[in-house]
Amino acid sequence: MQGKSQLTSEVDFDLDGKHHGYLRLPHSVHRSAYGWIPIPVISIKNGNGPVVLLMAGNHGDEYEGQIALNNLARNTNESSLTGQLIILPMANYPAAKAGLRTSPLDQGNLNRSFPGNPVGTPTEMIAHYIESRLLTRADFLLDIHSGGSSLIYQPTLLMTRHSDPEQQQRNLAILSSFGFSHAILFPASPDGSYSSSAAERQKTIAITAEIAGAGTVDTGALKQLEKGLSAYLGHLGAVSEDSLRLKRPMQETRFLEVPSQDYYVYSRYNGLFEATVEIGAEVTEGQLAGWIHHPDTPMEAPHAVYFDIQATVICKRVPAITQRGDCLYELAAQIN
Ligand SMILES: [Zn+2]
Repeated sequence: MQGKSQLTSEVDFDLDGKHHGYLRLPHSVHRSAYGWIPIPVISIKNGNGPVVLLMAGNHGDEYEGQIALNNLARNTNESSLTGQLIILPMANYPAAKAGLRTSPLDQGNLNRSFPGNPVGTPTEMIAHYIESRLLTRADFLLDIHSGGSSLIYQPTLLMTRHSDPEQQQRNLAILSSFGFSHAILFPASPDGSYSSSAAERQKTIAITAEIAGAGTVDTGALKQLEKGLSAYLGHLGAVSEDSLRLKRPMQETRFLEVPSQDYYVYSRYNGLFEATVEIGAEVTEGQLAGWIHHPDTPMEAPHAVYFDIQATVICKRVPAITQRGDCLYELAAQIN
């Protein structure tokens, strides 16, 4: 974490008003000896209220957040703010440009790269800049993900449990402000390489969102995200109440947890996966989850996959071609 970032920003985050440009990540390659990678950035500031860092494209094949944040940047007038929005719609730009989870330049997974390294690979340098230059300014972080190319999520919010009961109550209220049907609370991760761990180190209140996925853009989920985002920014006091069209959450939020590895259903076979359950479904122990078919072996019967526990289906695998060890479903349980 020590050391000066080599990234520079075309945007001065101290200025009031709406400013956009690029973070310049120096990148000397055959086609461009003195070139830089352009990471899009927008700052909208009015006064000294809460500072919210909004990120998408942490994984490059997750699209709803990239679109929602660019829409938000275009549609937000600084006069409606009572704080500051710092927006990174394509945080790991090389990965987002390529539509890949990880960066084609260094195979870096930005959400496993914090606290980063100021003189490391491009992905490590981005992580270092975000933690040391942006999270140090931000009171709140929203990092918007989706299931990427291989999974699809019921729109879900994730947050780390807080040890202080009063802060925990405030955090549950922030989660509820989105009006999503459910949110998942996780214990603090011992692995410090996620954006949420970086936020924790910098005393920034972080939420991770998982919005649809499947390598596509789900219009319904995108609309839900945009409404939720607007209500969240109003709840935080970053946007003035008058400018909010939506004053009330759309629905009550259920709080869930993923108590153990048993809540991940994996394939034990190579083959073609046929899912028999939709995201959002309530499932019971012994219920059929799907089939793994084997058309490469004439006359071989498919293998059935069953759920081992009673739970809510949060996400499921999308591609049919499946290998032993691939995650087919993620489940969650109601917190009692
Ligand atoms: Zn992701």
